[in-house]
Amino acid sequence: MENANLLAIAKEFGSPVYVYDSSKIVSQYERLTNAFKQVKQVKLNYAVKALSNLAILKLMNSLGAGLDTVSIQEVELGLLAGVKPENIIFTPNGVSLEEIEQVSEKGVQINIDNLSILEQFGTKHPNIPVCIRINPHVMAGGNSKISVGHIDSKFGISIHQIPHILRIVENTGMNINGIHMHTGSDILDIDVFLYASEILFETAKNFKNLDFIDFGSGFKVPYKEGDIETNIEEFGKKLTKRFNTFCKEYGKELTLGFEPGKFLVSEAGYFLAKVNVVKQTTSTVFAGIDSGFNHLIRPMFYNSHHEIVNISNPKGRERFYSIVGYICETDTFATNRRILEITEGDIIAFKNAGAYCYSMASNYNSRFRPAEVLWHNNKAHLIRKRETMEDITKNQIDVDIFTEIPVSIS
Ligand SMILES: *Cc1c(COP(=O)(O)O)cnc(C)c1O
Repeated sequence: MENANLLAIAKEFGSPVYVYDSSKIVSQYERLTNAFKQVKQVKLNYAVKALSNLAILKLMNSLGAGLDTVSIQEVELGLLAGVKPENIIFTPNGVSLEEIEQVSEKGVQINIDNLSILEQFGTKHPNIPVCIRINPHVMAGGNSKISVGHIDSKFGISIHQIPHILRIVENTGMNINGIHMHTGSDILDIDVFLYASEILFETAKNFKNLDFIDFGSGFKVPYKEGDIETNIEEFGKKLTKRFNTFCKEYGKELTLGFEPGKFLVSEAGYFLAKVNVVKQTTSTVFAGIDSGFNHLIRPMFYNSHHEIVNISNPKGRERFYSIVGYICETDTFATNRRILEITEGDIIAFKNAGAYCYSMASNYNSRFRPAEVLWHNNKAHLIRKRETMEDITKNQIDVDIFTEIPVSIS
């Protein structure tokens, strides 16, 4: 997208505002499918939690993607967007048996990640095929907050517990139709992923009625210049070869599944905010914007780096800034960043704002969540209105119980 398009959107819809470029989502989807075109059956299930606007889910559906969901509400959103239940997989962690049963009743594929629920579900519903989430105990990437396959992780059933899984399957007569892993959102090294895949193949041999193997996600996208990005093409070549050999050994053409979130939507997103105040201190220049970690929490929560550009002053000279929010506690987006000279009123753009940005936004400080705009076929479409005071108050109950004068005040 051009700066001029972004500026026009900020002008028309106000700030702060999230903008998503559909063409980038489409090209990422095509990149991933192309990398695996030598596999007969591939299924990409978009991880809804990355960005869950209905328009995005509809776009994914139109591309042929399914959905990966982690709550019954995400399932409902998917169905609302017109996605067929058989194209949705439910991969929750720590949710109740009741929620899993409710989702299953809708015809959605269930993925279970602990022995207790597996046994209970299998006992009650032996005829419903279930996928199991394995923890291969592979450490993916360096950030333990987003690495979920390691030994201390709460996710998945340990590969060392396969004998217990098999006992449950035998005792209940249930059918395991898929094997799944998701090692986290920070895969730097293809070989680590391939190593984890070998563990999945080994596991798969224990189950005779599989339809699919789901390799989860964790594809890395560049957030700044010089960042390592998962080489999807090379990865595709290597895993394709291995997967096709495995299918021959297994004696059945299985479906190869992935559930990318970040890879599909991160780079498609821009977060636009206006600079309220430029404040010089003894050590730095702060630019304070009309937003905060209530709208974009990744820098504060994960220490993530988002590129920040001043789109209002493309010809300006570069200066150093700390970009901060308006939340009343430490609320830093970036420290000591080289940015084109900022004047109060300028619009700045955060890049990679598609994944885990709007979907993690809150009303902290009683601020409204921003609007969302989809840029599609060279046109801006409002896909979510900015919140209003009514959104802040609509579920609050105005009790009238403080009319009596407190007796204890002396
Ligand atoms: C969050 C999640 C994903 C998506 O991860 P990305 O890093 O955004 O691609 C995939 N699968 C499961 C089970 C998840 O919880």
